[in-house]
Amino acid sequence: MIIDIHSHFWDAKEDLLPEVKADLASAGANPELVEITAASHEAGTSGADAVVVFGLRARNTGFVVSNDRVAEFVHARPAKRIGFASADPLFDADPLGEIQRCVEELGMRGVKLAPTYQGVEPLHPKLAEIYAYAEKRGLPVLFHQGTTFSRKAPLKHAWPVLLEDVAYRFPELRMIVAHLGHPWCGETVALIRKQPHIYADISALYYRPYQFYQALKLADEYNTDRKILFGTDYPFTTIDSTMKGLADLEAFIERHHLPPLRAGLLDGIVHRNALELLGLKHPAAKQA
Ligand SMILES: [Zn+2]
Repeated sequence: MIIDIHSHFWDAKEDLLPEVKADLASAGANPELVEITAASHEAGTSGADAVVVFGLRARNTGFVVSNDRVAEFVHARPAKRIGFASADPLFDADPLGEIQRCVEELGMRGVKLAPTYQGVEPLHPKLAEIYAYAEKRGLPVLFHQGTTFSRKAPLKHAWPVLLEDVAYRFPELRMIVAHLGHPWCGETVALIRKQPHIYADISALYYRPYQFYQALKLADEYNTDRKILFGTDYPFTTIDSTMKGLADLEAFIERHHLPPLRAGLLDGIVHRNALELLGLKHPAAKQA
């Protein structure tokens, strides 16, 4: 079974302000990657048994994705897709109310936040209200807590270690650190090792193979790979290109005579049952 814990959905024209493409271009990435459709999302994640789908609300960096659009996309394939809600702590009139609406009316089952994109520290009072609700309702929160291409996303709010204070205040809250908190993968490994309800995903890491290799070695050496989840970061990558990236990583290791990864380590991540770890039912089971 393959669970993609990390995919985006939006209408680039309606949901992204011009600075998103400009920031991607200035970071040397292809700005056209953000042009997606329901069909391209379906094709890019077709190898997964279940896919977590979210928008992002962070006007500070140009993301104003409609949660209703995400919900509509999720509802088109309810046995496969799981919607996570997002809210902007600075620009939404009632961020907690928006999350509650998404959960209670639109059937979303988790939360996607990105304090650095949103221009706030992770313990901003409006986010803390959301954590309290998510903890009570058993909703996992997936964080973009790491660096980004967005010029206006302060790095001082991006450090994964900052999530430890969230864990101390909300000890039952399930959290996922996207992209292993890159480039602070070592800090993320330290965090998930000692905080029982914090996990990390490997989405979008394969295109920096040396960093990815080191992160996986560290995760293994600290016995934390059991808390690392599979994800793509669609539209920036797909299931197929991520699988190819993992195969290429093993070739890279061999070519450069690096000590190999422990046998089964990558397979364990690819087939990990993230839904069970996060307390979520498989969407197909919910249907039955
Ligand atoms: Zn992402």
